[in-house]
Amino acid sequence: MFDKVLIANRGEIALRILRACRELQISTVAAYSSADRDLKHVRLADEAVCIGPPPSQESYLNIPALISAAEVTDAVAIHPGYGFLAENDDFAEQVEQSGFIFIGPRPETIRVMGDKVSAIRAMKEAGVPCVPGSDGALGDDPDINLKLGREIGYPLIIKAAGGGGGRGMRVVHAEASLLSAISMTRTEALNAFGSEVVYMEKFLERPRHVEFQVLADGEGNAIHLGERDCSMQRRHQKVVEEAPAPGITGEQREAVGRRCAEACEKIRYRGAGTFEFLYQDGEFYFIEMNTRVQVEHPVTEMVTGVDIVKEQMRIAAGEGLSYRQEDICMRGHAIECRINAEDPETFIPSPGAITQYHAPGGPGVRVDTHIYNGYFVPPYYDSMIAKLITHGEDRQVALARMCGALSEVVIDGIKCNVPLQRTIISDSGFQAGGMDIHYLEKKLGGTGKESGGPS
Ligand code: ADP
Repeated sequence: MFDKVLIANRGEIALRILRACRELQISTVAAYSSADRDLKHVRLADEAVCIGPPPSQESYLNIPALISAAEVTDAVAIHPGYGFLAENDDFAEQVEQSGFIFIGPRPETIRVMGDKVSAIRAMKEAGVPCVPGSDGALGDDPDINLKLGREIGYPLIIKAAGGGGGRGMRVVHAEASLLSAISMTRTEALNAFGSEVVYMEKFLERPRHVEFQVLADGEGNAIHLGERDCSMQRRHQKVVEEAPAPGITGEQREAVGRRCAEACEKIRYRGAGTFEFLYQDGEFYFIEMNTRVQVEHPVTEMVTGVDIVKEQMRIAAGEGLSYRQEDICMRGHAIECRINAEDPETFIPSPGAITQYHAPGGPGVRVDTHIYNGYFVPPYYDSMIAKLITHGEDRQVALARMCGALSEVVIDGIKCNVPLQRTIISDSGFQAGGMDIHYLEKKLGGTGKESGGPS
């Protein structure tokens, strides 16, 4: 195992990485912006280096500053966490070219998965079920595109190959608007992502979001850790996640999970990764792969007992996988609620000083957070300040524990979405399980989507 890791992130995930390092007796370097001097992991790390001023562009996205921080501290490896540079192939490449270990996949893999057209092609070849659609990028011939649209059927969706964060997509309900939709999405994609490559997919009207966690050693061995349901979303942002996904059978889990693991073996994937699927009418449709640890990884950790962040380090250190597929079983049920510093009704971010914080506790309650009494939530970054995770022998127990945890937690001084989370957890649809990705927005006041039931 390497002796020193530089943590190229902030907030709860930086603390999560620091804790994993401590367990593995790895020294830590916190690379922080000048707004983050008081972050918990900065205080706890063996060394800390200020990498720049508050704006992310000048600090957490500043590749030369991060690499210099690793150089001056003699770090061996760099953990990118999630967000920021975690899925930036240039960063991974420069880390490796500077002689450090990137705790994540090879730069080439990140590049392939970062382009949706090449990711879908790779997954199709590996036998992963994808959404019916164009075979790769759309060309310029209107007749061919119209014919393709008729074959796929309406409604369909035009997506930018370089899109991300729910941007660069347009739903087309009828042939009359297909060609204009293609050209508009192309222009937007060029402006937003620097590439006008777009493709076409069948639009699924009431899918759930179900994703599979994988671990792979980079040498052609891979396992899956089952699935998570992340259908409770607002503006494509996940709000509540759970594992396992309600209603998914052991056979489905095995069949789809095995396909994902096989795809990893085929592309010699290295590290932790997530295959995101839309799930509708009993079928899985691959939409994209995330080549990093996910915010919602704790629910999988709670049900499998596998420490995903420690596994990332072991794989990066060349120690291989600590588990075989047959060692993995899912025990009970886990739910995660993301706690954001925001107004629970308007969703406007609410930075500021936390005057009082009381953490919830009790059996099966886990809190991943960097906040403490007196911590100042800076206005520069993502508003997520904590993740409440509960685990129980079944979904009922996990839900009851989440209800309890949400009623115990106290965060004063700023606004946060705990009231919204209480509403979701006590909602009859959520309690029944299996709602689709439009359910939450519909509940929050309607987006014109007429669906919302189980699928
Ligand atoms: P991004 O990288 O921007 O998150 P995704 O391809 O993961 O893009 O899609 C984001 C979201 O858009 C999905 O979670 C889903 O809500 C919606 N979406 C994408 N493709 C389809 C589709 N074919 N049918 C229905 N909804 C889709």
